[in-house]
Amino acid sequence: APAPAPNFLRNIVEADLAAGTHTRDGLPPVITRFPPEPNGYLHVGHAKSIYTNFGLARDFGGRCHLRFDDTNPEKEEQEYVDSIIDSVRWLGFDWDYKGPVGAGNHLYFASDYFDKLYEMAEYLIKVGKAYVDSQSAEEMKNTRGGFGVAGTNSPFRNRSVEENLQLFRDMKAGKFKDGEHLLRAKISEDAMSSPNMNMRDPAIYRIRHAHHHRTGDDWCIYPMYDYTHPISDALENITHSICTLEFQDHRPFYDWLLEVLSEGGFFKKPVPHQYEFARLNLTYIVTSKRKLRQMVEEGIVDGWDDPRLPTMAGMRRRGFTPEGIQLMCERTGVTKSDGWIDFGVLEGAVREDLDPKAPRAIAVLRPLKLIVENFPQGQSVECTSPVHPHHPELGHRTFPFTRELWIEEEDFMETPTKGYFRFTPPVGDQPGARVRLKYGFVAECTGYDKDENGKVTAVRVKYFEDSKSGTPGADTYKVKGNITWVSAEAALPAEVRLYDRLFTEEKPDAGGKDFKEFLNPKALEIVQAYLEPGLKDAAAEQRYQFERHGYFVADRVLSQPGKPVFNRIVTLKDSWAK
Ligand code: ATP
Ligand code: MG
Ligand code: MG
Repeated sequence: APAPAPNFLRNIVEADLAAGTHTRDGLPPVITRFPPEPNGYLHVGHAKSIYTNFGLARDFGGRCHLRFDDTNPEKEEQEYVDSIIDSVRWLGFDWDYKGPVGAGNHLYFASDYFDKLYEMAEYLIKVGKAYVDSQSAEEMKNTRGGFGVAGTNSPFRNRSVEENLQLFRDMKAGKFKDGEHLLRAKISEDAMSSPNMNMRDPAIYRIRHAHHHRTGDDWCIYPMYDYTHPISDALENITHSICTLEFQDHRPFYDWLLEVLSEGGFFKKPVPHQYEFARLNLTYIVTSKRKLRQMVEEGIVDGWDDPRLPTMAGMRRRGFTPEGIQLMCERTGVTKSDGWIDFGVLEGAVREDLDPKAPRAIAVLRPLKLIVENFPQGQSVECTSPVHPHHPELGHRTFPFTRELWIEEEDFMETPTKGYFRFTPPVGDQPGARVRLKYGFVAECTGYDKDENGKVTAVRVKYFEDSKSGTPGADTYKVKGNITWVSAEAALPAEVRLYDRLFTEEKPDAGGKDFKEFLNPKALEIVQAYLEPGLKDAAAEQRYQFERHGYFVADRVLSQPGKPVFNRIVTLKDSWAK
């Protein structure tokens, strides 16, 4: 077995458990959270965050909360809440914790904390650690300074506690327009020259006369992310607050805020601690919400669940398995240094998950007629093959051998190249090639038909009645070619969607490149295929290995009862070539 991937967070949690760092009555000693903002659909990067947070809780007997970070009223919608809930469940995680202590349903919304967040903001004002700033946005930008350039104090920085309190209450009461005032933290006297920009009197409340998807019009001031997040974590008794590296510079404010509020008696120690890890970057995709939205809105893809997208909804429709995605998350480890992971790692994990469990089936994707000239019209012979070659307990499937079959176009060559062992016609006194029709009979090519354009329309063969697979006679025929087929009379005609990577470029949006220049025109090819008849009853989301072709799933949106539409999940081998 390969060595486990590095995961520094596991080491931290293990050490904390051993030291009893977070041992508290009535609470598990590990509590993490996944905190999405409900402003879009989740993607594979979020899957990594879900896996990291819920996975730590699972592995160490703790719990993980699902918390919606819903403090931006304009961008958030119930639709996104629903789809996120769906995606987390689908990936295999649950916030309904079973105990032994602290059991319960741990689904939260930051908006449920609006009253408490407000109360704590008033407290900060009262102890001189927050003030109302009335500079314009432009002025604020100028007084903030820049990297290596100290900022300057706002002229409103020394307002009295009374004045600040009154203004803040008036902000809440709706007496001002958006942007007229802002509540800012006052971390220290010289905070405006801190080398960390996030410590320069960060905004903690802003005015927004906007309808919120949960609190309606109750509020016209909303807390900022950097203020809301640590408090939400502390209110939920989170032990390890895990986020991506870009939040490293936010940690000093996180710690400052929880320290001040602990002194104020709002929280007991130990308070949560923030840990940052490197985000998942996969090649051949884009995950920026803006770019995903652009592709959906411009019709480059067909909705948020288009199987070409790396959204959770898209991956689900594509047929990627939750277990395969989890395996990729596990294998890519958790580190502190940014890097790129090849998309093939995800495909490989999905393939590895599917191989032992996907039932086998036969599909002919690019059909060519095969006529068995010495097989009587109207008759059939039943052929059988295992549902799964390594799981005899799954039994057998049966399908008929008939006079007319479908084979793959590529299984016949008029003028064979060297090393080609499938059907080729007789030449002079040389007989045609002999090939085994897998699970059926050996047949020898006797000729072929062409249309007026020179296109081959049918291959003609004679079969050997005593060569049936699984019968004693089978062994006496030594053939090098072995091909798949379906009976033309019994086959299920079906639409099969051959999906491939959406981009031809490894990093389609790196370094200012326009990702739309690298769209892969072959990311979707729709073919009319002929399938083994038993696939007629494939349920939506049922996955198969189509022999020779890869793994396929009955599309959960397009499939109809008795009329499945299949998506290619992934090919059998990594066959990606630019
Ligand atoms: P955006 O900033 O584009 O709106 P976001 O990815 O930050 O999107 P959130 O809903 O805030 O969206 O993300 C929820 C959680 O998922 C955050 O903790 C975030 O750090 C994490 N996350 C997002 N993308 C990745 C990624 N590629 N790898 C690991 N974690 C990620
Ligand atoms: Mg976000
Ligand atoms: Mg975010």
